Amino acid sequence: MPAWPVGKAGRVPLSYGYDAGAHLTRHTSPFSSVASRLCWALALLCLLALPAQAAIEVTGMPGELNLGPRVAVLEDPDRELDIASLLARRDRLPWRASDQDTLNFSFSSSAWWLEVDLANASAAPERRLLELAMPLHDYLDAWLVDERGEVVQAWQTGNRRDFDSRPVAHRTFVLPIALPPGETRRVILRLDTHDGLYDATPLYLMDDASFLAKTQRELMAFSLYFGALLALLIYNLLLYVATRERPLLLYVIYLGTFFVLMFAARGFAFQYWWPTLPTFNNQMIPLNIGLFAITLAIFSSNYLSLQRQAPGVARALYGVAGVCLASALPALLGHYAPIFRLMIPAAIVLSTLLLGVAAWLSWRGDVLARIFLVAWSVLLVGVSLYFLRVAGVLPYNAVTEYAVQAGSGLEFLMLALGLAWKINRLKNEKLAAERATHEMQRTLNQQLEAQVRARTSDLEAANRQLVALSRTDPLTGLLNRRQFHALVDDELQRRRRHGRPLLFAVMDIDAFKAYNDTYGHQAGDEVLVRVAALLERHFRRAGDRLFRLGGEEFGLMLEADTLAAGLQALEQFRAAIEGLGIPHAGSGHGVVTASFGLVACEDFDRVPDTQALYVQADQAMYEAKGRERNRIVTRHLAFGA
Ligand code: GH3
Ligand code: MG
Ligand code: MG
Repeated sequence: MPAWPVGKAGRVPLSYGYDAGAHLTRHTSPFSSVASRLCWALALLCLLALPAQAAIEVTGMPGELNLGPRVAVLEDPDRELDIASLLARRDRLPWRASDQDTLNFSFSSSAWWLEVDLANASAAPERRLLELAMPLHDYLDAWLVDERGEVVQAWQTGNRRDFDSRPVAHRTFVLPIALPPGETRRVILRLDTHDGLYDATPLYLMDDASFLAKTQRELMAFSLYFGALLALLIYNLLLYVATRERPLLLYVIYLGTFFVLMFAARGFAFQYWWPTLPTFNNQMIPLNIGLFAITLAIFSSNYLSLQRQAPGVARALYGVAGVCLASALPALLGHYAPIFRLMIPAAIVLSTLLLGVAAWLSWRGDVLARIFLVAWSVLLVGVSLYFLRVAGVLPYNAVTEYAVQAGSGLEFLMLALGLAWKINRLKNEKLAAERATHEMQRTLNQQLEAQVRARTSDLEAANRQLVALSRTDPLTGLLNRRQFHALVDDELQRRRRHGRPLLFAVMDIDAFKAYNDTYGHQAGDEVLVRVAALLERHFRRAGDRLFRLGGEEFGLMLEADTLAAGLQALEQFRAAIEGLGIPHAGSGHGVVTASFGLVACEDFDRVPDTQALYVQADQAMYEAKGRERNRIVTRHLAFGA
């Protein structure tokens, strides 16, 4: 609802004082010549007081005209003027000509009045669209005043009023100005802010076709921009869902915050998402900047692995981002201008920190940091241009207007590339670690296996030694008495099946006690060893088995087909002992000799056991002892039937 009812305004004489040009005189036919002359006089007066601002002849104008340098500007520091008082006192007010291409009042607690005259010299009605191309501008009141000084149309709109207060549903403020044939209309705008923060306020005058073309151009650019951001966001979100890589999620949150911020800053969020919530719309922009600072700090810290590489910088980043968010909180209570006074330096510190740490890491050879540095520099240039414009340092133009878009688009693309690189690196590191672990496991396994093999072979050797030790006699190396029982038992079983005779002899060294007594126990042992060695040299057939049965008594299982053959072999051995010529003073033979009892067993079924065999041989041996020793007594086995 316009606060200034159309047509209700009192007739306020229009004084086109500063427009003494042809338009007015040409189109003031209802005026009398006196009035006309008065007007001239007044015009001349005003020329001294006011800058010359010609009414703009719309029929000849280009399709799109920048009104910035063409408007008259009036500052209302106490905000005391309303349209009625303004129109009444118009000529006495300190209007000045605009000295800016794009008006920018930056931080200012005044209300600002703008004025421009539009003339239609043609014979047909004309329509022009006046655009205030700043979606975030708080309050815009506008009036259309005819040549008689009467308000013919009024609008009340702005970013702090419902979206449907706009005469044209557009993200910026577009006023349709009807210009009857041959008439001039004065457009008066009153700009005000919620609490003293203005941004650049570009003003354009366009015909319908130009507006359509401009809107299409902008929409296409914004669609490409937001579409690209959205595609990056969704793609990386899906990647995150698939891979669960945390950096991807942080990127998505960071990009998401930025997307909402940009969508809101460009007026689209208000137009499409919450057109009836102007307060919320205004609160969420600074809050979103604070959130963006936080997500930026978290994302960058993770992306650059700052916790590991520069934990101090990471803490500082979080701190400054926290200040950014905290400085946005007054927005909830309706304070905006102070926010930007604190937020801008905080953002500068945050950016400097990020740039600094990225540059430092780049210098140390971190490829990710290099990508980040380039990406961030690009965005930062854009943001700096934007903030410098908000602060009134730089002019409004296409570069300062779209720098953030271009910079951020490039930034997010490069960061996505960097992320892919980072995740690839993480994967490779993981793979390498896995490989190293695997390799280590393999080496350990091999070492373990080698150790086990070595131990096993040691054990086997020890076992073999044990077995050998348990089977042999340590002094002579011949088989021991236990083996005698086992082997001869086996042999008896075998012979029962094959039927060949088994020859077994017991040998006992003669007068050995006396030898020990004469030459010592040590010398006795040596004799035992020499006799054993001689035994082994003599009986080398496959079936020959030699035992030390105990003391100086030996057992021989001989491989021979007959008793005679066995006897012959044994006789040779007996002679060989004697032939060793080991002196033995205590023996009747003068040298070491031995006595033998040899038995031949053919009828195995009648041999009850090994012991019986031994007993028979032993008896034969004792018979030899009884017959002056150093001889062999043989016998066929005789068991009671
Ligand atoms: P004979 O001719 O009747 O066999 O008389 P001998 O002295 O040989 O018989 P005896 O049974 O009286 O003595 C056997 C001796 O053999 C007693 C012991 O001192 C000696 N002897 C037994 N075992 C060993 C041994 O391992 N080493 C040594 N040096 N002497 C042993
Ligand atoms: Mg003996
Ligand atoms: Mg003896």
